[in-house]
Amino acid sequence: MQTPQLVPIALMRTLTYVLQNSNFYKKLFKGVNTTNKELSFHEWRTYPFTSKDDISKNNLDFLAVPMSEIADFVTTSGTMGDPVTIYLSRLDLKRLALNERDSLSLAGVKEGDLVQLMTTIDRQFMAGIAYYLGIQELNAGIIRIGPGVPELQWSSILKYKPRVLIAVPSFILVLIDYAKKNGITLLDNSVETIVCIGESIRDDEFNLNVLGKRITKDWKVNLYSTYACTEMATAFTECHAKQGCHLNEKLLFLEVVDENGNEVGDGEQGEIVITTLETTGTPLIRYKTGDIAKRFLQKCSCGNSSPRLGPIVGRKNQMIKYKGTTIFPQTIFDIFDNMEEVDCYKIIISKDNYQNDQITILLQLEIMDSTIHKTILGKCQSRLKVIPIFTFHELEVIQAQVYKKNLRKPEKIVFI
Ligand SMILES: [Zn+2]
Repeated sequence: MQTPQLVPIALMRTLTYVLQNSNFYKKLFKGVNTTNKELSFHEWRTYPFTSKDDISKNNLDFLAVPMSEIADFVTTSGTMGDPVTIYLSRLDLKRLALNERDSLSLAGVKEGDLVQLMTTIDRQFMAGIAYYLGIQELNAGIIRIGPGVPELQWSSILKYKPRVLIAVPSFILVLIDYAKKNGITLLDNSVETIVCIGESIRDDEFNLNVLGKRITKDWKVNLYSTYACTEMATAFTECHAKQGCHLNEKLLFLEVVDENGNEVGDGEQGEIVITTLETTGTPLIRYKTGDIAKRFLQKCSCGNSSPRLGPIVGRKNQMIKYKGTTIFPQTIFDIFDNMEEVDCYKIIISKDNYQNDQITILLQLEIMDSTIHKTILGKCQSRLKVIPIFTFHELEVIQAQVYKKNLRKPEKIVFI
């Protein structure tokens, strides 16, 4: 008889910890006993998943240390209207620092480097504070400019000469545009590396996608992809091979599952499911992130054998179902991001009278009745197999709907 494959010890430790400390998991795993017991993957996979809805409905029950031991209160979007809180203990902040140190190291950031941070560090977001702590852990320097304000970003780049930027890639396009209009040369400045957050810069084959190409066409920088979500408090990061984002196996256990919850094979696409390792404040078991990506298990050419994730193709709740086909927003983004004639667009997904998804795209007035309109129709037909509804507006009207104040990134799509 074949010996069953056992789960890693760190995973057993997490399970034992939540059974002792998390009210939510004490109830969910009633009857599960981990004392002196080895656990096979087979049994592990019979355990229930945790969803964002669970955290929204039972937020406090996930807290696994006394509230007085919480060092930082992070929030992320919930499913019930209010944001949910992810409670971080002092040990969790230390873990976050180590996570980001490892992540930035993979992207070649090292001791003595100077990094300009173009994301929010306050308002209870996790990412900014994670970068800050990680950069300190690396013995590197940080300039906390925060998001937006291209003028300030450039004056800081020219003054302090950071080698690395951490930014949302679509904002880099804004920076490039500002540089061109204000006589700032993109050929000769200190920036060599941009660690990209929040948006994909690669396609399915790991080549730069339209967004990535648009950045590097004008600015000869080295782009690195990352993937993270607040609940996992861990980042997946590309190494120099740029063949997917590596899992940090010390801090996270990864599963990728199909629609029925079964593990997908090497190179196959599914939903990312995580179990946090070494967290004490808000540990999560088999948490379904809603993000869809391919997972690769072959050893990377960099020598690291940890699993890698391909670009996020979409979120489960952002799947557009249209006449039996599934479309992810990224496919629509790729069509319009690639057309220089389209200055700005907004995609609205709504339900028709029969509860089918309906796609409406707002475009600028100049496109109406032009040859570009015909090109767009052709591209939609071939890439989406669907012709969306188009409405035409003044450019400023669309821009106001996309670049909203208080949003971290452009809202190119909305589900209503
Ligand atoms: Zn690698």
